[in-house]
Amino acid sequence: PAGATRSIREQRESLPAFACRDELLRIIAENQVVVIVGETGSGKTTQLAQYMHEAGYTRDGMIGCTQPRRVAAMSVAKRVAEEMGVVLGEEVGYSIRFEDCTSRQTRLKYMTEGVLLRETLTHRDLAQYSAIIMDEAHERTVNTDVLLGLLKRLAATRRDLKLIVTSATMNAQRFAEFFGNAPVYTIPGRTFPVDVMFSKSACEDYVDSAVRQVLTIHLSQPEGDILVFMTGQEDVEVCCEAIRERLAAVDGAKPLAVLPIYSQLPADLQARIFDRSPTRKVVVATNIAETSLTVDGVRYVVDSGYYKLKVYNPRIGMDSLQVTPISQANANQRSGRAGRTGPGVAYRLYTEHAFKHEMYQSPIPEIQRTNLAYVVMLLKSIGVADLLDFDFLDPPPLDTIKTSMYQLWTLGSLDNSGGIAPLGRRMVELPLDPAPAKMLVAAHGLGCTAEVVTIVSMLAVPSVFYRPKERLDESDAAREKFFVPESDHLTLLNVYNQWVSNGCRDAWCTRHFVHSKSMRKAREVREQLVDILQGTLKVELQSAGANWDVISRCVCSAYFHQAARTKSLGEYTNMRTGMVCHLHPTSALYGMGFTPDYIVYHELVYTSKEYMQCVTAVDPRWLAEMGPMFFSIREPGATKKRHTDMHMARMAAEFQQA
Ligand code: ADP
Ligand code: MG
Repeated sequence: PAGATRSIREQRESLPAFACRDELLRIIAENQVVVIVGETGSGKTTQLAQYMHEAGYTRDGMIGCTQPRRVAAMSVAKRVAEEMGVVLGEEVGYSIRFEDCTSRQTRLKYMTEGVLLRETLTHRDLAQYSAIIMDEAHERTVNTDVLLGLLKRLAATRRDLKLIVTSATMNAQRFAEFFGNAPVYTIPGRTFPVDVMFSKSACEDYVDSAVRQVLTIHLSQPEGDILVFMTGQEDVEVCCEAIRERLAAVDGAKPLAVLPIYSQLPADLQARIFDRSPTRKVVVATNIAETSLTVDGVRYVVDSGYYKLKVYNPRIGMDSLQVTPISQANANQRSGRAGRTGPGVAYRLYTEHAFKHEMYQSPIPEIQRTNLAYVVMLLKSIGVADLLDFDFLDPPPLDTIKTSMYQLWTLGSLDNSGGIAPLGRRMVELPLDPAPAKMLVAAHGLGCTAEVVTIVSMLAVPSVFYRPKERLDESDAAREKFFVPESDHLTLLNVYNQWVSNGCRDAWCTRHFVHSKSMRKAREVREQLVDILQGTLKVELQSAGANWDVISRCVCSAYFHQAARTKSLGEYTNMRTGMVCHLHPTSALYGMGFTPDYIVYHELVYTSKEYMQCVTAVDPRWLAEMGPMFFSIREPGATKKRHTDMHMARMAAEFQQA
């Protein structure tokens, strides 16, 4: 409670990790691999690296600390720099994709798991590190699991490398076993009892129920902050708005600070959740607040029982974000957030029956439910010939490996025997998913790298179009001025080019309803990709000039597995899966009065129905040239016959082209 006036040193010394600092350092000194378990907020993320730094582990290398989330990597590095009284980016830095805030002085490096994974491509033995802390390993992202396998292998050859795996209680024992019975050290924590209240009946609308619950707590319960778990940016925002609205309608209610938190929220707004507030506050969060960010002072948790999960459907070969029931382990983790500062209450917006009988015990690791094309390409490129031989904590389903390999093969990144092809080697150099990487590599042959690198960069940043609810007509009209008929990709290119020729000015952005922040980010991403193209891939930028057809063709060469044929106005059928999908009303292809017969799309999003995001019209002849899939859909199996079939199909395609 006296936090605002406590010095940083006092705050650090009050953390549970501090009480066992010497013991932590001893167990780390005596073992190469240690698993550390501790309550959220005990100091694992912010303190461990500092203790090791203080104990001299940074003399011969950096301490790298991985985070599953970009936001966490940034905010934690910022906090640690503050605690150490250094400038962020010097001794303490962070690195996330397309944003490297480190320097030669950096000793403590916070980064996403993806960044460390890519570093293993160029620095196989990670010699720049004396220690790696795999933080939040219980999250079990695909990258966590791949890193676990790679680091286990590396630890056997680099005996001097310290490896620390931190985890919430779930999974800790499995990690220890995976590393040949490494010791598990539990940071003694003080936690307070939390009363768990279940809903009497299943709720119909979890946002509405959460809003009611928050109001009830605020109006009838003693002081203490409230933490609400929603699933994504959209329901977080809606929930915040509804709380404010309904509260305004209550006579004489005490003020309540309503704070959203989700990963796309600008950093300054995110930081507000840590501020002391004179009034009660309610933090409405996505799953990000479950373990990776700690909000002190929370005494009430309201749990929707859902989160957004990336789910891969190998049959249709596609990832999608789906609102999914959480597991029992997640539910308990969430409830625990109420008992950090004192006894608390957790309100679960689902029934006890649902908790016991409809929820998994623990979440399914991402590797078992997501597309693995990127990971397969990465592993193949570092010489893991057979994915089935890789030491996975939990192996991915064979079907997923096969579909991912098939997708890579159709892109030309794997050869007929399933090894990495020359094209794949070039694609791996780019920190991009296989399809955009292919697009950029293919641009070289088609003489349009200058344009395609812009398009890829624009696709890598949050939407550039600003659509404020109260000025929809105006902003839609502004966007339409950028439209290039038949292509959203070319529309993005057009926006970027216009922005540049208008001096990259913010005033220009405001006038045209374009997010200046996204534009600047796109420019940064572009500069980095250009560096890789020119430096590593030795490709000079070439411009297609006015020949934009060739750019569409390039888009087609990377996204042909997401080709669709017209069904009716605005409605298409995926040519490979037969699935019906729709043009989004904001697409440049909409409102031309007719819709092109054949298109490819960047991704599918589900809102009210399946919408294709970022679409370009293509010539069916290009499609015929592209893919063996129009002749035979086979997955690369182990048998020679299948390989021959695929080879034949490709030859048939080439033959047709000739
Ligand atoms: P753990 O990783 O064990 O969950 P952390 O090291 O993240 O714990 O947090 C330790 C303490 O530092 C917590 O009390 C948390 O509230 C505080 N803290 C972490 N990040 C910040 C921040 N950006 N601003 C203020 N306090 C923070
Ligand atoms: Mg942590």
